[in-house]
Amino acid sequence: MTDAARLETRVRELALVGGSGTSVTRLGLTALEAEARDLVRSWCAPFSDDARVDEAGNLFIRFAGADAEAPALLVGSHLDSVPEGGRFDGALGVCVAVEAVASLLGSGARFARPVEVVGWADEEGARFGVGLFGSSAAFGRLPAGAADLRDRNGVSIAEALRALGLSGDPATARIDPRSVHAYLEPHIEQGPRLERAGRALGVVTDIVGIYHGRVRVGGRQDHAGATVMGARRDALVAASGLVAALERLASAVPDTVGTVGEIAVRPGAKNVVPGECVFSLDVRAPSEEHIERALRGLGEEMARVRREREVAIEVEPLQRVPVTPLDARVLETLVAAVRSVGAEPPLLVSGAGHDAQNPSLSGVPTGMIFIRSTGGSHTPAELASAADAALGARALEHAIRALAA
Ligand SMILES: [Zn+2]
Repeated sequence: MTDAARLETRVRELALVGGSGTSVTRLGLTALEAEARDLVRSWCAPFSDDARVDEAGNLFIRFAGADAEAPALLVGSHLDSVPEGGRFDGALGVCVAVEAVASLLGSGARFARPVEVVGWADEEGARFGVGLFGSSAAFGRLPAGAADLRDRNGVSIAEALRALGLSGDPATARIDPRSVHAYLEPHIEQGPRLERAGRALGVVTDIVGIYHGRVRVGGRQDHAGATVMGARRDALVAASGLVAALERLASAVPDTVGTVGEIAVRPGAKNVVPGECVFSLDVRAPSEEHIERALRGLGEEMARVRREREVAIEVEPLQRVPVTPLDARVLETLVAAVRSVGAEPPLLVSGAGHDAQNPSLSGVPTGMIFIRSTGGSHTPAELASAADAALGARALEHAIRALAA
């Protein structure tokens, strides 16, 4: 039986690792993330002493199945958060997975195949800029040279991993996708659709494709008083035009979103005309063609700004995650599982990227359950109720039974 109180306590306990109040800062590849792994491991100790941390910092806790050699059912989510994020994004999925497995084993269920609870490392990419880091490493989908990427303090991914007692080569975390029977990820919805529909749980059909890039606009640094308006090559003004253009272009393509979430101005003084401006690009859509259309429009806008303002514009593509359709049969299983706990799940496209993309793109049958969350996401205000979380765990129990018992 799902223990709703135990689940709630664990969510709270996990939130204390890097958290205060409802705010959680538990960045990927840090000692706090390692502390979270140890906590999850301690919860599972009554049922399994078979836990391992791979070379990317992912935690796998294995629960035995009658056929020890059979491909394992993988269930879980990620353990890191964004800076000043909330208690539920990622963490709830791991807590729900632990609760579902513990509840099944506690009530005497035996698995036909091994079941593994996974806590992925550094899903958010908040520190090094590579999202879905741990699951990408596990499924051999890390961008080339990822280990050399550095955080703000100049620490590389390889160095961060070594500081945690790992080898520093995340590519060696790679597993054979054929060793995974299926992957299930419970996660808060991160959008308002379930709340608006008055439903506790949803099932995901597809995950949007994501393009991440960095744009560098080079103008000319000048004196803000002595340089007359007509003689400037102001990098920030040029960049501003592109930021506004992205909003316009993304709005014009159906179901597409475009965001500039980071911007840096150099040298960054009030009496200096900006000489350089660097900003981020985040474009998402449920079809590759839509992403291309928005990026093509932005490219044309860049050509125009380059010409008119005599600035240099360079685009550095950072990451590309393709549109990911999730497995149709796992989807059926999850829909049936949600119905079996008396809920009717809307079918949703995920606008956020998820670790589930990596197994899915590697050929592992993959599915996601969304749990209603109010108060937004990536904020201390995000909130999944204890009742909804428990319902999610009960639905997951049914799905695990269907796929592994
Ligand atoms: Zn997440």
